[in-house]
Parts: sequence; C-alpha cells; structure tokens
Amino acid sequence: DLGFLWDIVISRSCPPKPIDQLAREVGLLSDEVEMYGKTKAKVQLSVIKRLEGHSDGKYVVVTGITPTPLGEGKSTTTVGLVQAMGAHLNLNAFACVRQPSQGPTFGIKGGAAGGGYSQVIPMEEFNLHLTGDIHAITAANNLVAAAIDARVFHEATQSDKALFSRLVPLSGGQRKFSPIQLNRLKRLGIEKVDPNTLTEEEVTRFVRLDIDPESITWQRVMDTNDRFLRKLTIGQSSTEKGFTRTTQFDISVASEIMAVLALTSSLEDMRSRLARMVVATSRSGKPITTEDLGVSGALTVLMRDAIKPNLMQTLEGTPVFVHAGPFANIAHGNSSILADKIALKLVGPDGFVVTEAGFGADIGMEKFFNIKCRYSGLRPHVVVLVATVRALKMHGGGPTVTAGLTLPKEYTEENLELLEKGCCNLRKQVQNAMAFGVPVVVAVNAFKTDTDAELDLVCRLAKSAGAFDAVHCSHWAKGGAGAVALGQAVQKAAEAPSDFKFLYDVELPIVDKIRIIAQKIYGADDVELLPEAQHKVELYTKQGFGNLPICMAKTHLSLSHDSEKKGVPTGFILPIRDIRASVGAGFLYPLVGTMSTMPGLPTRPCFYDIDLDPETEQVDGLF
Ligand code: ADP
Repeated sequence: DLGFLWDIVISRSCPPKPIDQLAREVGLLSDEVEMYGKTKAKVQLSVIKRLEGHSDGKYVVVTGITPTPLGEGKSTTTVGLVQAMGAHLNLNAFACVRQPSQGPTFGIKGGAAGGGYSQVIPMEEFNLHLTGDIHAITAANNLVAAAIDARVFHEATQSDKALFSRLVPLSGGQRKFSPIQLNRLKRLGIEKVDPNTLTEEEVTRFVRLDIDPESITWQRVMDTNDRFLRKLTIGQSSTEKGFTRTTQFDISVASEIMAVLALTSSLEDMRSRLARMVVATSRSGKPITTEDLGVSGALTVLMRDAIKPNLMQTLEGTPVFVHAGPFANIAHGNSSILADKIALKLVGPDGFVVTEAGFGADIGMEKFFNIKCRYSGLRPHVVVLVATVRALKMHGGGPTVTAGLTLPKEYTEENLELLEKGCCNLRKQVQNAMAFGVPVVVAVNAFKTDTDAELDLVCRLAKSAGAFDAVHCSHWAKGGAGAVALGQAVQKAAEAPSDFKFLYDVELPIVDKIRIIAQKIYGADDVELLPEAQHKVELYTKQGFGNLPICMAKTHLSLSHDSEKKGVPTGFILPIRDIRASVGAGFLYPLVGTMSTMPGLPTRPCFYDIDLDPETEQVDGLF
C-alpha cells in the first residue's frame, strides 16, 4: 500500500485550477457562482430555473457489497469513474459526494475525499470546514434545542396571562400576532387576527404547547467525537429552578436538519420541511413541531447559504459537487438532491452524473431508491456496485482484522476458494440492485496484492449473478486511466433498457413496509416488533405519519442485524427495537438494535498526526 499520510501528499502534488475557471467550463454564469476562496464555490439555485427546459444527463449511483473494516473504496471509485469519463473518455461528467463529518477526520476513520490518485482536492478543504454548511446545521439544530427547553421552562413558571402578554407584546399600545403565530392559530382552529378577541380558553390553547419533557426527541449536536456528551444532565444552574433533564448530544451530521438539507428541492420546500420537524409530543399526544415553537423562519435564515451546493474538483480537474452528508443509519446517507439535479442539467443529455450512496447496497442504495429518488423524482440509469477481493474474502470466512494492523496472509496471497465463498455477498447485493429494475455494473477495486485470477473470478461470478457487466479497475493507483473500462461499461449500461420500480408503496401500513425491506433486501424470514416499536406504529399512524417512507437504522456490517454475520445470513428474524420519526426530512426510522449517534475518540486518534507547517501554511497528517 502507498501508506499512511500518502493521500494528502498526492492531493497537494496537483495544483487545483481556479474554481471560477472550472465554473465557467461546466457552463455556470459568473453571477450564479459565489466564491469561497480559490478552490471552492457555492452555486446559486437560480441555475435550476435557467436550465429548466434542458434535458438531464444520465444518472449513476455508486454503492457496494456489505462493508468490512478493510474498506471497499466507494468514494474512491466515484471519483475514479468521473475522472475516467471526464478526463479520458471525453464526456461531461460530474461527481456528487457527501460532505464528511469533522468528527471522524480527527477520530478513527480519517477523511473521505476518495484516495490515492482518485480524490477530491484540496482534501484538507474538503475534510475540514468546507464552506461552513455543517456549522450552519449545528447552529440551527441547537437553536431548536434551546427553544424547546426554554419553552418548557417558561410555560411551567408563568400564568397563561403572563405568557400571552410576553408572546404577543404591546407595541405602540397595540398587540399584534406575527405571521408564524397566525399560522399557529389557524392550525388550532382559531380564525382570529385581533389578539384582544381571544377567549380565556383560546388564550390557554395558544400559549401552552404543553410539551411532555419525557417525549422530547430533539437532541443537541456537535461535530466532534465527544463520548462524554452521550448522556448528560442539563439545567443544573439555580437560574433554571430545578428544571433538570437527562439528554444527549449527537454528532452534527445526525441532525434531522442535515437530512432535510439532503432531501430538499428548493428554498420554499426547505422552509416547509424545517417547519414540519416534530420535536416532542404534548401531554395530550399531539406532535409538537418547530413551527409551533416559532423557530422555523429563523432556521431557514441560518440555512440559506448551506442550501447552495459546493463546487470543487477532482485531481484531474473534473467537477464535483460536495453537498450534505446525513448519517447512513438513522438517516439516508446520500448527498443532496439539489446537487444531483443541478449537475444533471449541467452535463447535458450525453453527460453523466455519478452520485454515491453510503454503506452497502442493502442500506445506502435501498434508501437512495426508496427515499431519495421518491422525493427527487429522478430515475437512475445505472448502479455501480463496488467490491474488493479482500472484503469478499472476509465474507467467505476470512479472519477479522483491526484497521491499521498488518493483514493476515488470507488477504495478501491468492486464495480463490475463500474468495469464491465470499462472493455470495456480492451475488445477493447484485440481486438487491436488480430488484429495482436498473442495470448493475460491478467495479472490482483492485489492491496491489490481488492476482489476475482473483479479479477475473469476481468479474465472472458477478456476471453470473446477473450483472450487466463487471470490470476490475485500478483508479486508486492510476487515477482516471485506471477506470476507463469501468467508464465504458457504465456508458453501455446507460443505454440498456431499464424498468425502475420502488420496492414498496408508501401507503402500505408501516409494518408491511418494514417487512418488505427485511425479507426482500436483507433476506430475513420475518420481523419482530418489540413493545416500544409497536407503540410507535400506533402513535405515528394516529398522528398521520404512517405513509412516510422507511429508513432502516441497521448495522451496515452485515445483511442481518448481527454485525458479526458475514456473507449472506439466513434464517433470522429482524428485531425492531423502536421507531422514530424525522417528519421534516420525511421518513420513519426503525431502530434495529442500538445505534450510536455520537462516536468517541480512540486512545490514539488521528489528531496526533495533524499539524500546520507555519512556513508554508500547509496542513500535514490528514489522510
Ligand atoms: P468507502 O467510500 O467505501 O468508505 P473509500 O473510498 O473512502 O471507501 O476508501 C477507504 C480507504 O481505502 C481510503 O483510505 C482509500 O485511500 C483506500 N483505498 C481505496 N481503494 C484502494 C486501493 N485500490 N488500494 C489501496 N487503498 C485503497
């Protein structure tokens, strides 16, 4: 392997072209582009209107086999493929990737800009603050959290009259409702505009959200792997008069606001999603929204720049949008709809947009189709499924490894038997992709110890599983030149007939939708709802959220709920522990087991290697 710290050395060895030049090359007008330094720019949504009548390019989604600690290289392949298409095959090609959380950059995993000679550059800009979108999400998320606790406190410590006179203050001798308050009155069925005409009963209903503190599902967030924030008690100062509460912090990218950003289609749509987010339930069982808290307008203001996709480039100077990065378990793990839509217009009918879905095909791809494509209305032409020889060997029963340690010989020497056994996982994931009616191209991401016989075996088995084509590629070592065969295969597959269909109808009952995913995609015999999940099915159905798509929060390390089970597990019943709702983003997420929403730091975190050279102002040690 090229080794530790190598990615940043390669990234720095290729000076990026000025981003305004790239913006012109892809057909953006200068007043549609907002520069953030020399290597990043935001693109205004007005470009969608300008290109409204133009045809879209071909839409390609990159996914993978079930991930292992050995890494499969989905991001690397996404970048390698667009480099091959854009810089070697003379096609217009755009990559759309997620913005990584800063937590893992300083924690265990490192960055996420691809790797080797297939990277988004400059990788330090990509992996750190970018243009501040995650900071905006953190600010917006925590404003909601502050609003909830302050509201509970004020309601508990004031009379109805006092609350009313503060919520609707006298101004120039008069009280007037704000537009957000008028909306709330409408939702309460009180069609009055003059605050003086409300009856006592109406005043009570208007001022009291009556949040049940036990039901608050909204957490504070922070983009640092800080395990000591997983559980804490807030409100301990005497000024809060004993209103303490146990709560938690999540990593910022787990915020529902991140999922809203990824799924929104316009500023107006984002405003209404940010208003619909349910943060708690009232004591009488009604959902409490951000609109009820009066905070949705302020959230939109905080998010007004974050909604614009960020333009960057690959090592070979082809365009990339970096936009949104929702968690792939409690959210859908895909980059933004807006970036994909703009890129599809910019590349034109003969061009390609390659977007990446997190985790394996059973998770990221299933959610890409059933959630993202459902909201965007876009229909993909090709699925690229990334596999590696070493990860397939682990699915075949190869020893477990810890990242960073020397690999056992099973992974570095030819072993066709182990590999063939592990290809069962590839076969199942190819079939999962084909279940949506889209042609599948398998990309075998070659590592230097893989033999030709091994690479050929994977390709042969992939085709026999039904893949349209399967090729091995060496874009990590050779850049776009190493993925030309992949580019050509994708080009051909995009011309093949496809018959896209969703896996389930959203109008089906919640349990039926979960069962379809569990049986058809994971291979489970059935599902079992534990009491908390059963209670939520009833609650959400009653509250009118039963027709939202499903976003399974399951381990990515196995097709089943047990991360130890590699290959293709069979004969299992999928337990559903609980179900939560992201109503603003627009999905229900059943929890299969416990999901950590705040990573921790290991004994030796990545930050040990990160430093700044004061002479050159260069960042060292990112990988
Ligand atoms: P994923 O998107 O599947 O999580 P990445 O593309 O981020 O995977 O790759 C994970 C890590 O593996 C990166 O550090 C990358 O540089 C490395 N990697 C990917 N492909 C190869 C390869 N063919 N040879 C060596 N290292 C690779």
